[in-house]
Amino acid sequence: MDELAEGIRRVTLPLPARPGHVHAYLLPGEDGWTVVDTGLGLPDARERWAAELDGLPGRVQRIVVTHFHPDHLGATLDVVELTGAPVSQGRLDYEQCDLVWGHDDWADVLVDWFRSHGVPDDVMVELIEQGALYRPFIRYQRNPELLEPGDHVDGWRTVAAPGHADGQLMLLRQGVLVAADHLLGRISPTVGLWPRSRPDPLGDYLGALEETIALDARLALPGHGDPIEDPAGRARELIEHHRERLAATAAALGEEPRSGYEVSYPLFGDDLKPSARRFAVAETLSHLERLVLEGGATRHEGVGSVTYTSA
Ligand SMILES: [Zn+2]
Repeated sequence: MDELAEGIRRVTLPLPARPGHVHAYLLPGEDGWTVVDTGLGLPDARERWAAELDGLPGRVQRIVVTHFHPDHLGATLDVVELTGAPVSQGRLDYEQCDLVWGHDDWADVLVDWFRSHGVPDDVMVELIEQGALYRPFIRYQRNPELLEPGDHVDGWRTVAAPGHADGQLMLLRQGVLVAADHLLGRISPTVGLWPRSRPDPLGDYLGALEETIALDARLALPGHGDPIEDPAGRARELIEHHRERLAATAAALGEEPRSGYEVSYPLFGDDLKPSARRFAVAETLSHLERLVLEGGATRHEGVGSVTYTSA
């Protein structure tokens, strides 16, 4: 456990794939600690957390889940069982969490959806299997206490951070932003279009980055990587990055209709593993949909197929 500014503590937990780790944070409060995120529920997650919490002065009063991705919520029940603390999660995020992890038909939904966006069947099998790999390591709290943006949690204000996940929440207090995967220092958070997600995740993300600049935080604590000393500057860089990617997406379109899968090749290269192609296609689609809204592309919907051309 690392001690950071303002008495905040950081727990770094392992991930089996890149980026190789995820950070949870412990926020000090009047009567105890708030744990933010719990890592993946790997077989030794509980022992790991027990070791981290051993010697912590005071009790864990609550657990806040920033978003439903496996590396942030998977070990939630391990931490609940160790501490007895209640769990809070954003209302919209919990709805999506339940949709994706609470129902067995999600893989079928994904197959239909990726197929409609041009993913060939031979790629599909591996792409779906890769996505299912994390499923055994997800133990989340059913029916948590639900948070809305703007709610207060022990002196911290929750701030909506849609884009990487529609319902992602950050926590802000006195210029310190617990940023989850909204701002990362060295990598650009994935911003994908997924079935039953909000229709314009990249538009949501760009708007949330503008709001991050206005927050004028002095420090952001991200879910992966080092603390960010200039959150507003990093938000500007990410806006710039996506503007460049939008231009590249527009350049990859022509008069011939192309699927999201096809467009992901010029944008993300030819030799991605299926697990990475999955995110590449989703991110390509978030850019294509933003381009449609900005007048730079046209979407064509056929029977079970979606393609795009230059506008
Ligand atoms: Zn995430």
